[in-house]
Order: sequence, then structure tokens, then C-alpha cells
Amino acid sequence: MAFDLQYTQTFSQRGQLTADANPMSQHTTKHAEIYSAIIIGAGQAGVALSHCLQQRGVTHLVLEKDRPFAEWYDRRWDSFAMNTPNWMNVLPGEQQPFAPQAGRKDFGTLKDAQEYFEAYLRVARPPLRIEEVKSVGVNRDVSWQVTTNRGIYNTDNIAICTGHARHKKIPPMADDVPGHVPQLHSSEYRNPMQIETAHVLVVGSGSSCVQICHELAACDRFDTVYLAGSGNFTLPWSILGISTYSLMRALGVFKITRDSWLGRMMFPRLLKKGDPATPPSPRRLDKNYGVRRFGRVSAANCTEIHCSDGQVIPTQDLSVVWCTGFRASYDFLDVYVRDGVLDKDGVPIHQRGVVAKAPGLYFVGLRFQHTFVSQDICGVGQDAQYVAEQIVARSVGVARGGSGWISPNPAA
Ligand SMILES: Cc1cc2nc3c(=O)[nH]c(=O)nc-3n(C[C@H](O)[C@H](O)[C@H](O)COP(=O)(O)OP(=O)(O)OC[C@H]3O[C@@H](n4cnc5c(N)ncnc54)[C@H](O)[C@@H]3O)c2cc1C
Repeated sequence: MAFDLQYTQTFSQRGQLTADANPMSQHTTKHAEIYSAIIIGAGQAGVALSHCLQQRGVTHLVLEKDRPFAEWYDRRWDSFAMNTPNWMNVLPGEQQPFAPQAGRKDFGTLKDAQEYFEAYLRVARPPLRIEEVKSVGVNRDVSWQVTTNRGIYNTDNIAICTGHARHKKIPPMADDVPGHVPQLHSSEYRNPMQIETAHVLVVGSGSSCVQICHELAACDRFDTVYLAGSGNFTLPWSILGISTYSLMRALGVFKITRDSWLGRMMFPRLLKKGDPATPPSPRRLDKNYGVRRFGRVSAANCTEIHCSDGQVIPTQDLSVVWCTGFRASYDFLDVYVRDGVLDKDGVPIHQRGVVAKAPGLYFVGLRFQHTFVSQDICGVGQDAQYVAEQIVARSVGVARGGSGWISPNPAA
């Protein structure tokens, strides 16, 4: 059944949502199942939040369009290595350690990650349904309505955990790359055998780019490996003999919050430039494997790809691997809900994942949602706990007959 609500909604200054519903809404909500909370997405954010809600006795449902932890099955290359050491990879609740047979300071493989998430699923046991959420809107009574490809649900609280990597981000100039040049995104790359040309261009500057470029350069299959990008800062594995991640933990880097002065200074820059990359640095790739380094790709024509440093790359017998990242998107949010919940760039407006303008709407798993590591395995648990507490507090408020709205900012 299609979602057929035509609201004239306004978000009042008190953060209350009001709606003049079309009479059709009575019809569409009639057969809906009702839950205290609904979570969209069963990646680490959604499953961690489900675990936290179960601990607090909140009846909820997790809706996943694909399969739990799909990202770690469908979008990583075969030789993928974790960027974070094993000791950091911990989701909330009792579970086996990440890659138990390896050292705590080692960096796990893709298989380690999959095994860890499978074990976590057995612990967390989320109340899961494989359904794709098509739209999220607001009912006349200010509860939320979720429409999937299979049915309709009503809920007081809705948590969006659909990840920050929903869509591939590829620069528009890729359209000008001639048709004879095979192109693929890092999420489609699996191993060097996929690439049949003599030369390969890897575009990007983050950890994915470095890992893929390293593999392509080391495999001896290609005449030339080009690397084009702005060159992010490379985080060394260790500083003065101490593991960089241990040092960052000791210095409290993982606890820097978005609202602190350091966070306000650092996070916008990181969001714009991307996270520091893991080794080897582009310089090392050049030195050890003869990778040819170029500036950012800026334009393309039938025969050449132009870079910002004035160099050109011939397109003959060339493939391109775009390691240019991802973007989130919330196109399933009803257009009236989107207004006031997302900014002009489509980024959620929130305080620690709580949306002030739309009581009962939450996000978990956003980049820098609260701390430097919010989007990582080690950071998502803290945000999930916080959002779960907000859901409980709101549910108590709703049960007492109020709007259930509580401010995430005690000073507000
Ligand atoms: C290449 C790469 C490497 C990374 N390496 C590390 C690392 O080493 N260590 C670390 O800590 N972090 C790492 N991360 C960061 C982070 O751990 C992952 O991005 C992680 O997958 C984020 O989890 P999530 O739950 O927020 O989102 P996702 O894993 O993307 O999960 C979102 C889920 O929502 C579902 N969904 C989306 N839309 C709908 C819909 N409409 N209806 C129903 N379901 C929907 C999707 O199918 C998906 O399963 C890495 C990220 C990337 C991209």
C-alpha cells in the first residue's frame, strides 16, 4: 500500500510537530503494526542501538533492506584490512573479542570482521525484518509512520541508522572519461584480476585508496599504476615506538566531542578533507613500487585525463578505480519531514543524534555524531546508549500524556 499522507506540517518553536492530515491518513494507518521504536538499518549502528533498547526493555523492530552488516559483505575488497586495531573494535554488550586468534594490536581481515559481526548478531539478537523502508512520515497524532515494501508501521520513535556510505561519491568529470576506459568504484573493487588493462589509475586520498593502490602496485600485473589525489595526511602506525592508536587513546583524542572547542575546530576540516589515511603514504608507494603520483583529477577528454598539477594521464589501455568516498542520503524521509531535519546539503541537524525539530526522530552512526570515533566500531556504542536513553525518556513522557520531548541540551 502506498504512503498517501499529504500533510501541511509546521515545526513550532517548542520543537513540537503539528500536522493537518489528509483524511486518507486514517485509512493508511488503520492496519499498521505499532512499536515503541523502529530502527532503520542493521549495520553496526542499528544492531548496537537494538541491543541497547533490549537492555532497557523497549519493544522495537529493526528494518533492514538487505542483510545485517551488509556493508561488510558487499562493499569491501578481498584483501581488505581493518584501519583500526583489534582492541578498538568493540560493540556494546558481551561478545567475543575481534579476531581472537590474532594479537590485540593487529589489524583484522575482512573475514575477521564478518566473524565478529556474526558473533555480535548472536548476542544482540535484534528483532529483525528484511524490508526496505520506502518512506517515513508523521501521523496526525504526531507518531511516526514507516512504510516499507511489505507493510506499514506506526511508532513513537524512529532511529535512522542507514550509514554514512549509502551512495558512491564520484566527481562529475567522470562522465567525460571516454567509454573505452573501464571505471569502477572502490565499493565494487574486489581484486586486481577484475582489471584487464595495462595501466590503472586510482583516484582518491583516504585509507581505501591507499590499500587498493598498494595491492594493484604490488601485484605486478600492470605496466603503470597512477595515483591521483590531494594526498591526505598519513597517520603512521607508530610514533616513537608507541602505536599511534594507543597514543591517541592516551591523549584522549577519541573523547574529543563535536561541541568542544577542539571538536569545533577539527571536525569541519575532517569532514571536508576526509580522515587521515593509513600507511603506506603515497611517497612510499612511489618509492617502493614506482606508483606515479598526480594531483586531483580535474577534466577528461577522449585521449587524456587532466590533473590539477598540470600533468596528464593517457586514457589508452587505462582503467580507473574511484576511491572518492560515499555520501549519505535520506530520500525516504517524507519531504515535509526533511524540511527542518536536514540542512541545505542534506546533512541531519541534530544534537548527539537527537533531532530537536522532530521529537522522536534520531540518528545513530553519523560521522562525528558526538566524538571523533562516532562512525567507527568503537564509537558507535556510546552514541547508541545515549539515543536509547533518550528513547526511554521520551517513551515515559508519551505514556504520561506529554509530547515526550526532552531537550538533548540541558542548557537549552
Ligand atoms: C571502506 C571502509 C572501511 C572502514 N573500516 C573501518 C575500520 O577499520 N574500523 C572501524 O571502526 N570502522 C571502519 N569503517 C567505518 C564503519 O565501521 C562502517 O562504515 C560501518 O559500516 C558503518 O556502520 P553503520 O551501521 O553506520 O552503516 P552501514 O554499515 O552502512 O549500515 C546501514 C544499513 O542500513 C541499511 N539500509 C539503508 N537504507 C535502508 C532502507 N531504506 N531500508 C532498510 N535498510 C536500509 C543498509 O542495507 C545497511 O545494512 C569503514 C568504512 C568504510 C566505508
